[in-house]
Amino acid sequence: MKRSPKRVVLLGSTGSVGTQTLDVIRAFPDRFQVLGLAAGRNIDLLASQISEFRPFRYYAADGREPENCSDCRPASLMELATLKDVDLVVAAMSGADALEPAIAALRAGIPVALANKELVVMAGEHLRDAAEHGGTEILPVDSEPSAIWQCMRGEPQKPRRLIITASGGAFRGRSWDALRSVSPEEALEHPTWRMGRKITIDSATLINKALEVIEAHWLFDMPYEQIDVVMHRQSVIHSMVEFQDGSVKAQLGPPDLRYPIQCALTYPDRVENTTLPRFDPIETGNLSFEELDASLYPCFNLALDIGKRDGTWRAALVGADEAAVEMFLDGKIGFTEIGPVIEQALRDHQSITQPSLLQITEAATETARRVRSMVPALPVLPASTDA
Ligand code: MG
Repeated sequence: MKRSPKRVVLLGSTGSVGTQTLDVIRAFPDRFQVLGLAAGRNIDLLASQISEFRPFRYYAADGREPENCSDCRPASLMELATLKDVDLVVAAMSGADALEPAIAALRAGIPVALANKELVVMAGEHLRDAAEHGGTEILPVDSEPSAIWQCMRGEPQKPRRLIITASGGAFRGRSWDALRSVSPEEALEHPTWRMGRKITIDSATLINKALEVIEAHWLFDMPYEQIDVVMHRQSVIHSMVEFQDGSVKAQLGPPDLRYPIQCALTYPDRVENTTLPRFDPIETGNLSFEELDASLYPCFNLALDIGKRDGTWRAALVGADEAAVEMFLDGKIGFTEIGPVIEQALRDHQSITQPSLLQITEAATETARRVRSMVPALPVLPASTDA
């Protein structure tokens, strides 16, 4: 029986996750139909995506109109996420703009493939309630939650422990003090993954891993005491799940984000994709595991401590981190100042209990603003040298 194509709306089509999502869709022309695309400022890439995938609606963050797209009309993010006949919304935009559209889609019963972990960190309870209300699911796209999700599929009981793997980022094995003068370019050299700039810096500080622990807490309803992180340099095991009987499942594969993206897109089916690299255990060789040394990654515990709090603390953390990373990439603060800047920006945060979505996004915006206003007061670091 010939199936009808899955109709997809992709929020964030020109970023790293978005372009890799379209790579997967391109490999299955009969399986997917793109109904809508939303992009940030890369209008030329959006225009070429529109001419290739022929969506009916588009959104461009700066309001510009892509060339040669007369059949494709503009829409708001909210309109895109709740278009009639959508089967799946992929939320791949960075920042908080996709939060309300993702919640609206879930409430309308449309599953959301979620790549942006910050949304879960900020508003885990809202997303969970919306999915419950709509009788649908959040499908994780990032490699670690996807691995956990894949390990748990078909398991009727709650697991005993989640073990999230961490590659250690660009500076693994180097002491924190030695990183004072590293440049943004060095921090953007991730050893195993090809990703966007913000998440690559978050990987170097390990804030990304703290955000993944918080994300797993909300997505899989697991207490923090039952979530561990282990260093695993090869990024081949994407995470593990320990069940009540002590048996452990791991999900393995090449470090290629198109795998977890495809898993969410074709869910519940498994489909062969010949364009992806195959896993070769012999070529992969040894897999290693080490304890996470918190002294090498002071930002990990800082972010996790804040992330365990309720109210608007988590939104404030996301906003502060986003702005601090931006400041580092712009050369305004040093790498080892990212943590102290976040800590200082959050010091006076007035958390609101049971916040609305608006209060959540405002908390993120407000702390981001505080970070940016703090920066001129900090000593300007000398430009890093090649030494
Ligand atoms: Mg990840």
